[in-house]
Amino acid sequence: MSYDLLIVAAHPDDAEVQMGGTLAKMTRSGRRALIVDLCDGEPADFAPAGVRREQALRAAALLGADRVFLNRQDRFITDDIPTRLEVARLIREHRPKMVFGTTGACIHPDHAAIDPLVTAAVFYARLKNWDRVAGGEMLAETGAWEVQRLFFPHCKMEPSWGEFAFAVDVSDTYAVKKTALAEYGSIFKIESRDQLLELYEAEDAHMGRLFGVGYAEVYKSQSPLLVDDPAVFLPGLHS
Ligand SMILES: [Zn+2]
Repeated sequence: MSYDLLIVAAHPDDAEVQMGGTLAKMTRSGRRALIVDLCDGEPADFAPAGVRREQALRAAALLGADRVFLNRQDRFITDDIPTRLEVARLIREHRPKMVFGTTGACIHPDHAAIDPLVTAAVFYARLKNWDRVAGGEMLAETGAWEVQRLFFPHCKMEPSWGEFAFAVDVSDTYAVKKTALAEYGSIFKIESRDQLLELYEAEDAHMGRLFGVGYAEVYKSQSPLLVDDPAVFLPGLHS
């Protein structure tokens, strides 16, 4: 099955926190999205094993995305060759034009590992002749695929960005993002005020304020951005 975008994240909830509004917006417009979580996020703080996975599947459905889990161990995720190959295989199977990762400046080592890991996987995906590489058998039966864009949403565990490549207005889908995050009772205190969720929303609102909209999610890009028409940036705030 093909997907228009593929999101590689360390844990169930990372995709929602970092870019849930964007994801909901893109699937609403008909694009197909797959979230790839490298682990199932166990052990979770407030629930027995298995609950977080179920919550993640419900959250993905709310966002209009499919979701798969790789079998890495939470806290032990690293940029290693087997994981690069596994992610590259998913890219070659699903042929997304856009891939999203997590930037490497985060204090959480699992998050930080995603940046080099997904960058390598995107590169591996476009290479041929894996049948002639010892250890590359996993990619030998799939065709090469060149991802057009690799983007990195802001990881809210790293300091705020003063600069980024672009922002997405997610005001219209922010309620969906919050509903998806509210599925995660295994890691957030949904019944009471959860400080982390409040901080996440405050950041998205702050970013939105920079553009005169309710909420925005911000991204860095691996390569420079080109538009067909600068009018895509209209309307603007403060010129
Ligand atoms: Zn995480």
